[in-house]
Amino acid sequence: MVKMKLFSKKICDWYQLNKRDLPWRNVNDPYKIWLSEIILQQTRVNQGLEYYHKFVEHYPTVEMLAKANEEQILKLWQGLGYYSRARNLHKAAKQVVAEHKGKFPSEYNDLIKLKGVGVYTASAIASFAYNKAYAVVDGNVYRVLSRIFAIDAPIDSLEGKKYFQELASQLLNKSDSSTHNQAMMEFGAMYCIPSNPNCSNCIFQNDCMALLKNKVSDFPVKSKKTKQAIRYFNYLVIHQKNNTFIEKRIEKDIWHNLYQFPLIESDTLLDSKKLIKHKRWKSIFKKDDFDLNKEYTEMKHLLTHQIIYARFWNVKYEEVLTQYLLIKRLEMNNYPLPRLIERFLEA
Ligand code: SF4
Repeated sequence: MVKMKLFSKKICDWYQLNKRDLPWRNVNDPYKIWLSEIILQQTRVNQGLEYYHKFVEHYPTVEMLAKANEEQILKLWQGLGYYSRARNLHKAAKQVVAEHKGKFPSEYNDLIKLKGVGVYTASAIASFAYNKAYAVVDGNVYRVLSRIFAIDAPIDSLEGKKYFQELASQLLNKSDSSTHNQAMMEFGAMYCIPSNPNCSNCIFQNDCMALLKNKVSDFPVKSKKTKQAIRYFNYLVIHQKNNTFIEKRIEKDIWHNLYQFPLIESDTLLDSKKLIKHKRWKSIFKKDDFDLNKEYTEMKHLLTHQIIYARFWNVKYEEVLTQYLLIKRLEMNNYPLPRLIERFLEA
């Protein structure tokens, strides 16, 4: 077993030799660190980089982000998923301006009150921007610690989270928490990866309990299996000369406040006959003079917890539909759109 005292030195030495040069590592501006941390949640670094640069360019300061309108932010976020992150980013920027005069707070207890900032993000900002002694525990850190110490406490249980947070705090180099935390995360992202970790070249190969027990793939332990819901979306691509209709998703559901073609969600896949008989269809088209093209474009779209089977139906309709927004078809891309709609437009 690796000695607790040597742990930090070992991983920090590794980090100095192996770290990637990432833009948010060369700054101690808490605003940019916060931006990068929110963008990188559930996102690969390569994908997050592009968005980080876009946000820093469009909104160089927290005041500018606070002043932006939500649709501009959602548009810039388009394609990154988990849109609540973007909405919370906006709310938190407004909080910083209103409650802290535009200066990013430096105290953990103030940081954690910001919208969308939890234990992980508050610790990361306090440590990376202010070198305060908070241990950062993200998915990478859970994986590294669970394997090296063969911890079978589930990482998605309250007790498990508490256990890992305490262990991470004990291992933390309190005089240089920033380097220590970044080293832990980088090691998990580059060596101790979820599948096929680089054990044969690993600095912990003589200490790692999971490797010594030949049980690397058993860690980390999770108590719940993520269930994926299956949903069926029928989008109505309504043609009215060069125009089409769109709607804003206002329900508390995925893609809140993004735009889409008028949607009929159903419990099963619908063919054209069943679609026309659907009560939602009848509530949209009051008259019978529509022209539904029986051909449709089909797309499967995967989200972390959902599988969406979508059909895009072409409908010719000349009447007024007051419940929707009539726009020029070419202007569709000016609105923040779910990736599924963007994929359809690209196709
Ligand atoms: S030996 Fe393998 S499983 Fe253990 S810490 Fe290193 S990379 Fe991870």
